[in-house]
Amino acid sequence: MKSILDLCTDDVAHEALLCALDGQHLLVAIYDTSDRLVFANSAFRHSFGLGRNDGEITFADVVLRGVLNQRGTRIEGDDALAFITNAQELRRQHAGQRTFAAELMDGRWFSMTETLLDNDWIVVVGTDISHLKSTEEAWIGAHERALKEARTDVLTGLASRRHSMSALELAMSASAGAQTPLTIALVDLDHFKRINDLHGHAAGDAVLRDFGEVCRQATRQSDIAGRIGGEEFLVVFPGTPVEHGASAVERMRRNVLGRRVRLADESSIRYSFSAGVCRFEIGDDLNATLARADRALYCAKSAGRNRTVSWGAPPA
Ligand code: GH3
Ligand code: MG
Ligand code: MG
Repeated sequence: MKSILDLCTDDVAHEALLCALDGQHLLVAIYDTSDRLVFANSAFRHSFGLGRNDGEITFADVVLRGVLNQRGTRIEGDDALAFITNAQELRRQHAGQRTFAAELMDGRWFSMTETLLDNDWIVVVGTDISHLKSTEEAWIGAHERALKEARTDVLTGLASRRHSMSALELAMSASAGAQTPLTIALVDLDHFKRINDLHGHAAGDAVLRDFGEVCRQATRQSDIAGRIGGEEFLVVFPGTPVEHGASAVERMRRNVLGRRVRLADESSIRYSFSAGVCRFEIGDDLNATLARADRALYCAKSAGRNRTVSWGAPPA
C-alpha cells in the first residue's frame, strides 16, 4: 500500500485526493502558525462567505466576516469576540486533534476536526452531519414525549400515579428539610360504579375528565394533582397548613356539586366525591403519609360520603 508521501508524488492519486477534498459536503481549511488562512476549499469559502481573492485573512477575520454576512458558524449569544477568544485558546492548547459539532447559520451541522500539526499549522476538516442531527433531534423529541406521557394520565391530563408518588416524595423531603407544612388529600369519587352501570363507561370517563378540570382550576402551580387509581386522586399542597388544604378541598367539593357533566345523548349527570386530608408528619414515609389520608377518606365514606375529613378532626 502506498503511503501519503507516495501519493503526493503520484499525479493521479494527488488529483483524486484534491477532488475528494473539494466535495460539497466537506469543509477544508488550513491555517498557518499566525492563524492566517492559507487554503480553503470551495465548500468552506461558500459556507463562510469568503471570496477566492480575499487577500490575507486570519481565523478572527473568517469569524467576523461570517457574522457580517450571516454565514459561517452560529455563535451562541451572538458574542463574536468572546467566541474568537475562546476558540483561539482551544485551537492551540494541545497538539493533535480535537473534534466538535458546529451549527452553521444556514442550519447545517458539521462535525469539525481540527488538527494542530507539529509545525503549528492547523488543518480543519468539517463533515456534514445534518442528517444525523435531524435523527438525533427526532429521538430527543420522541424521548421527551415518552417522558411526558409517563408523567401524565391520558384520560384526565393530570399527573400519572407514578409521577404523583414521586412528586409527593419530593415534597415530603422538601418539607422536612425546610420545616414547612405539607398537606395531602386523597379524593375518591362517590358511587362511581353506579355512574358506569347507569350511564355507561363513556359517561364515567366524561366524569373523570370533568374532575380533572376541577383539579386544574382549583390548584396552584406548586400543587400537584394526580390520578392514582380508577376514580382515586391525590392532591399535594406544598407549603400549606392542613386547615388551608382542607378548605381548598372543600371548595373543590362544593364546586363539583354545582357541575353537570354533559353526555353524548345531551342528558347530564352530577357527581360528588369524598376526601381524606392530613398533614405530613416529619419522620413518616410515603406509605405512612398515604395511610393517614386513607384513614380520613375511610371516615368520610363511612360517615355518608360527599364530605371532607381532616385526619384528627371530626367529620365535616
Ligand atoms: P365508593 O363511593 O365507595 O367509592 O363507591 P364506588 O362505586 O366509587 O367504588 P368502587 O371501587 O366500587 O368502583 C369504582 C369503579 O370505578 C369500578 C370501576 O369499574 C370504575 N373505573 C375504574 N377506572 C375507570 C375508568 O378509567 N373509567 C371508567 N369509566 N370507570 C372506571
Ligand atoms: Mg375507589
Ligand atoms: Mg369511589
